[in-house]
Amino acid sequence: MKQSFFIKTYGCQMNVYDSEKIIELMTSGGYRQSSNPEESDIAIFNTCHIREKAAEKLFSDLGRISKYKENKIKSGSSMKIIVTGCVAQAEGDEIKKRNKSVDLIFGPQNYQNITDALEGKNEKYVYSDFLCEDKFESLPIRNSHEISRLVTIQEGCDKFCSFCVVPYTRGAEFSRPVEGIFLEVKKLVEMGAKEVILLGQNVSSYNSNVFEDGIKVSVKLSKLCNLISNIRGLERIRYLTSHPNDIENDLINEHYTNKKLMPFLHLPIQSGSDRVLKKMNRNHSRSDYINLVRNIKSKINNMAFSSDFIVGYPGETEYDFDQTIDLIEHVGFASSYSFKYSPRAGTQSSLKHLNVVNDNVSDLRLKKIQEILNKQQSEFNLKFIDKNEEVLFTDKGKKNNQFVGRTKYLQPVHVLCNRNIIGKKLEVNLESLTSFSFHGKIIN
Ligand code: SAM
Ligand code: SF4
Repeated sequence: MKQSFFIKTYGCQMNVYDSEKIIELMTSGGYRQSSNPEESDIAIFNTCHIREKAAEKLFSDLGRISKYKENKIKSGSSMKIIVTGCVAQAEGDEIKKRNKSVDLIFGPQNYQNITDALEGKNEKYVYSDFLCEDKFESLPIRNSHEISRLVTIQEGCDKFCSFCVVPYTRGAEFSRPVEGIFLEVKKLVEMGAKEVILLGQNVSSYNSNVFEDGIKVSVKLSKLCNLISNIRGLERIRYLTSHPNDIENDLINEHYTNKKLMPFLHLPIQSGSDRVLKKMNRNHSRSDYINLVRNIKSKINNMAFSSDFIVGYPGETEYDFDQTIDLIEHVGFASSYSFKYSPRAGTQSSLKHLNVVNDNVSDLRLKKIQEILNKQQSEFNLKFIDKNEEVLFTDKGKKNNQFVGRTKYLQPVHVLCNRNIIGKKLEVNLESLTSFSFHGKIIN
């Protein structure tokens, strides 16, 4: 009988994409996916290192799974434990020192070697090279009829924000070749996808090239979106995450002309204080950000924005924090994520022994910022009540005859319908709002 594997994914959508690739790699290698870690022959943990909490979660999960492994060994069977992703890259062999039951460790650029390693084709157990080029084009595409699919187009980062581990765990910036991305999106659409979300740690700095009439032409994110929008059957294109310094006029113009490109931009700023932005090495000021948003809105009046914020960065004063709140009120976000600063080994801010913000103060700031962001999200949503919006339906709901989809702005919408509407883009009257999701009626 085929060996079974269980996989758990932590962290961002790039990890979700990587896990999809691992699943396809394993299933095409003859392994069977299982949802039960206890009974699996192989347990894979695809990890995130961005904040301490995410990394520590791995070690508590490893503690639990190693007990299952011991029991299996006692009963005469076996189990392999594999750690992939950013913790694997950052901590390598240290993982095995903390938990001896781990068998194999793969950084984010190395998981294409999993099946060979399981078959014992290599002696080593830690794979942490940075060979991004090798990875993408050699990996199979997961066979699925899902309506919205992720496609990583760019990896790594050269920006070195002082708090961030990404440049160390994912390596230098790398943009996938256009042809591979185009073929992948085309295949996903043939399988039934109607929406693609182009992913990258710095997706707006995507830069590759193609040959047109024998001449090498540069392809930035705007042109890539334009090229893939020609794929028949593809209805929506999204991308994330962007850095404010990389948003140029060509991309704004593409939003204006390309109706498949959704008018929603995730544009992290992290802090509204110039002093903190400088310490964070973000290389832009709060007014640069405000002007960028204003410029985009002046050209595309229905564009909505979301962002990421970090509170309690070393040295952040009450005044700095108030500047962040002021920026939030000034810009007005459709939705946002906020985090308490987490020192990460090896990053500039963890090395400098800066003025640490008291934990209770950070907690209070996080609570306050989240209340304000939630209020803004509700205010943004309330403007849609009684309006008609185009909704792309992706899934069945929990109730009978219920379907769930998303508006252009990623707002979840539930409707009741007695025919299958998964994959359909329909006009819906948004009647009511529960928390952050709408209930609506399909317009004939
Ligand atoms: N490339 C994106 C950008 O430039 O903003 C962000 C990518 S990062 C994977 C996602 C988010 O995690 C960041 O925007 C930041 O808010 C948060 N983050 C990163 N490092 C962090 C840290 N050390 N502590 C708390 N939050 C962190
Ligand atoms: Fe991390 Fe984003 Fe800064 Fe790169 S630009 S270092 S991914 S926060």
